[in-house]
Amino acid sequence: MRTVVGVDIGNSTTEASVARIDSDGAVSYVGAALTRTTGVKGTPKNVDGVAKAVTWALEGAGVRLAELDLILLNEATPVISGLAMETITETIITESTMIGHDPRTPGGRGLGVGTIVDFEALDEVATGSPSIVVVPRGVDFDDAARRINAACDRGVEITGAILCGDDAVLVANRLNAKIPIVDEVSRIDAVPRGMTAAVEVAGPGQSIRTLSNAYGLATIFDLDSQQTKVVSPVARALTGNRSAVVVRTPSGDVADRTIPAGSLDLEGGTKRGKVDVSRGAAEIMAEVERVSPLVDVGGEAGTNTGGMIANVRQSMADLSAHELADVRIKDLLAVDTLVPQEVRGGVAGEVALENAVALAAMVRTKESGMQAVADAVAGYLRDAGAAGVDVVVGGVEAEMAVLGALTTPGTDKPLVVLDLGGGSTDAAVIGVDGHTDATHLAGAGDLVTKLIDAELGLDNLELAEEIKRCPLAKAESFFHVRLENGTVQFFEKPLPATAFARVVTLSEVEGAMSPIPTRHSLERIRMVRRTAKERVFVVNALRALRGIAPGGDLRQIGFVVLLGGCALDFEIPELIATAVAPFGIVCGTGNVRGTEGPRNAVASGLVASYVASLVGPRA
Ligand code: ADP
Ligand code: MG
Repeated sequence: MRTVVGVDIGNSTTEASVARIDSDGAVSYVGAALTRTTGVKGTPKNVDGVAKAVTWALEGAGVRLAELDLILLNEATPVISGLAMETITETIITESTMIGHDPRTPGGRGLGVGTIVDFEALDEVATGSPSIVVVPRGVDFDDAARRINAACDRGVEITGAILCGDDAVLVANRLNAKIPIVDEVSRIDAVPRGMTAAVEVAGPGQSIRTLSNAYGLATIFDLDSQQTKVVSPVARALTGNRSAVVVRTPSGDVADRTIPAGSLDLEGGTKRGKVDVSRGAAEIMAEVERVSPLVDVGGEAGTNTGGMIANVRQSMADLSAHELADVRIKDLLAVDTLVPQEVRGGVAGEVALENAVALAAMVRTKESGMQAVADAVAGYLRDAGAAGVDVVVGGVEAEMAVLGALTTPGTDKPLVVLDLGGGSTDAAVIGVDGHTDATHLAGAGDLVTKLIDAELGLDNLELAEEIKRCPLAKAESFFHVRLENGTVQFFEKPLPATAFARVVTLSEVEGAMSPIPTRHSLERIRMVRRTAKERVFVVNALRALRGIAPGGDLRQIGFVVLLGGCALDFEIPELIATAVAPFGIVCGTGNVRGTEGPRNAVASGLVASYVASLVGPRA
């Protein structure tokens, strides 16, 4: 009887699988555990995670460390992955033309056009000229309302108001006439006095109609066709807002410009390619495919793309302790994204959605470094008084994943596995004759998280990760939530006050919900989440399958088993299954050994392969 533990050190997760092997080679798996990988995969820092996973797996199995004979480590594919993102458009405002300001609670409603006048100058405004009043910092809402009412009584036509504080509703409630009011304009001093402006506020649940229409702006400001063309980005930026202000300054301008992002130099096995990053993901990926297999990628020096590639390369070199010159980019995934960015020159923290390209790069390093990890694990075991345990570096990761996947009930050779990890999407195929082949692609779960974070403007990766993993709901009362699929769930105890009227994530833990502290609607968050998953995993699944299908023909693939952390996701497996269904592919989430779900494939495969090597010569 021998007791062995298979250990799979992944970029994100370290998994262990304990098995007992009796003298005639019969295996019984007795325990499994997983923990976060410590340090960079393939470096001695991994020992802490390995020790934890092994200890927990042994504890769960009721086996003492002293009884252990052997630890099997995966021969990791020496790849690491990095991410970068670069905006390729920007909106710039010159001369304080204000756009896109959308405070939480504008007051009043309607459309007002007039000349901007300062609050302090209200008494001097002549009757008969429509005016929009700007109320500076420090004026209280009662005062503001009183002076505006007084001016109106005097016969001055006040058509709208722009406030600095957050009291539009309070002012609106105290006015005799109903005018549109926007507030929370932080740089109120920068609002140019004496210019013509328009203020529009829509009713609750509605969005503005005039200022978000190029011809609406042309009508208000009396623009010719050339000028209308110039202001059309303003209209576009305002679409969907509940309120807005547009100031027309003589030489004021809002420009929508494409940032010269630079180009990528793609070096393939035999072909070379060059593609401008601002052409977007589809063209970049077509070029990657054309020159494949990739040997290396460079970025045009002195451009954002050059900087982005240099960053990826440098961080990869640092991580792997390689010379910069030894770092080669073997795969690249480009994804189009729209990220909210503060508008340069804005006066109220205006935000516009800019086009950006996210890149995931896969770098092949010289060797995996697993032997160094094995030595360090052996050192740890000696210190723990278990010097008798051997530590060996076992089979190749992709082959082990296939062996582990084959323990899923209902599977047989030929079989394709797609391992959906944190940094990379790996595919492996095993033929009827046992021959295996594998491919490793850049971009996986971490990129999805990053896209969600950037597109929702969260700047909080933990929250983005939660949004990725959990369905959404809206707390409509203290006792019920509306789930994203439209159904209602009731609760006996009142929901936390912080969740009320908020979009929340529903975690796997029964009843646990956390509010998402943004103004995005449930529909928008859901759309960002799902499209992020599609842009990464559907694209990569198809790329991976084309890479290993016989002759690149997806119809030659019968069965696909999904493995890895992202196969646990509540919608990624179905998105992939739907995308490959037209090719007659059966695709489902693996269930390693009939119990472990998509987890533990490599760790179990290591044990299976070791057992095969024991009994192999005899059979
Ligand atoms: P690796 O093999 O690279 O160590 P994993 O197979 O552990 O990676 O996958 C890590 C990825 O899986 C991360 O992007 C993580 O967000 C995702 N993940 C882990 N658990 C879940 C889950 N329960 N639901 C959805 N995604 C998950
Ligand atoms: Mg893995």
